Amino acid sequence: MDLRRLPRVDRVVAAPALAPFRAALGTRTVTGIARAVIAGFREQVRAGQSAPPEAEVVEAVLGVARRRLGQRLEAVINATGVLLHTNLGRAPLPAASIERMLEVARGYCALEFDLELGARSRRGAAIDARIAELVGAGAALVVNNNAAAVLLALGALASGREVVVSRGELVEIGGGFRIPDVLQRSGARLVEVGTTNRTRVEDYVAAFSDRTAGVLRVHPSNFTMRGFAERPPLSRLATAAHDHGLTLIKDLGGGLVTDLPESIAAPARDEEPSVERCLRAGADLVCFSLDKLFGGPQGGVVVGTAELVDRLRGDPLARALRVGKSTLAALEPVVDAYARGDIESIPLHAMLRAPLGRLRERVEGWQSELGAAARHTRVVDSDATVGGGTLAGAVLPSVALEIASGSPDTLARELRMARPAIVGRVSGGALLLDARTILPAQDQAIVAALRQVLSE
Ligand SMILES: *Cc1c(COP(=O)(O)O)cnc(C)c1O
Repeated sequence: MDLRRLPRVDRVVAAPALAPFRAALGTRTVTGIARAVIAGFREQVRAGQSAPPEAEVVEAVLGVARRRLGQRLEAVINATGVLLHTNLGRAPLPAASIERMLEVARGYCALEFDLELGARSRRGAAIDARIAELVGAGAALVVNNNAAAVLLALGALASGREVVVSRGELVEIGGGFRIPDVLQRSGARLVEVGTTNRTRVEDYVAAFSDRTAGVLRVHPSNFTMRGFAERPPLSRLATAAHDHGLTLIKDLGGGLVTDLPESIAAPARDEEPSVERCLRAGADLVCFSLDKLFGGPQGGVVVGTAELVDRLRGDPLARALRVGKSTLAALEPVVDAYARGDIESIPLHAMLRAPLGRLRERVEGWQSELGAAARHTRVVDSDATVGGGTLAGAVLPSVALEIASGSPDTLARELRMARPAIVGRVSGGALLLDARTILPAQDQAIVAALRQVLSE
């Protein structure tokens, strides 16, 4: 065992091959990587292996440094056919949102300042009022995401008291957001009623007491129940809650404020209620995401009666959950688009509505630009999905380029390592690039990357 033969950290860090990584990551980071790599080799030497040559250690450091550099927030072309892919950042933003974000990020903005009066104003007041108007609510409050909206509503209105929820709605939304856990964190006590598949209004009413603050109704956004299943219509539940002086909170998730295209088949299409429909059915508060079917930046909203929303606004939690200026800058043009009825300027809705014939033309266009390399490809029908924990089970007809050249997993990796990165979908032994989620402005990048990987 000869630990002295291991190369010194400073010598490894100074290796010429690591120069670009010292410049990009900083010497401190590369030194940290070298220490960890050398420590690993030290264990191997202690276990009886011979000390590696310096070049081998440098090579190992290089590998880790390269991976570290590749882990930045890289822009991705979403070719999965999943429109609201949470792992890929959900909804792309309208061009107007991007311009406003740049404008506001470059310098200062009137975030909490009334330019006419020259006095302090409330952050988000204008956008809150416009969202309330858009959905026909008394008031609205924008927060960091829908999870925050639900936490705030429960924390402000039900802390130390009971909230009644159906056993069929104690769901996990994804990424560890579980309704029972959020309820507990808010300080409210969960009272479960009914069974997994059936809950009746009478089950709720039997659980009401002087400790009850309200009823929580959760939209089962990422799963569907078929067969012997029943839950009361929202309007019946609202009437029961109101008869007992209780508040009905609806966790809607999706945030639909316009019509869904006809190409989304029933029943999924009819099972996704709009925010307005929930309010009209009698929900006192509705919580929803801004980056799901609303098609905006990450954010969440609570809408409802002015009196309840005011109580939420005054809660200390509201300060911890508030949004930043770039979110508000991105959101305003989305609200403008809905107000004008210019739905197509919201990329999510443009993708949902893109005609099948137009998608086919684009994929055929890629194929013809590929020339000889096109022999590995085929234009195929595909099923796109909305995703993001919305419209569970709903498929949208789409068109994809199928690529069969060697192992689909290897090909998928090569396209992920291209820049911009392309994330496709492996299905039936081939790689698919689904046109519905690829923005028309990205067509050239798709062709360029395919030329590269298919010529190798
Ligand atoms: C998506 C979803 C959430 C979480 O929303 P985020 O904006 O991701 O925090 C909560 N509840 C329901 C019903 C959802 O669909």
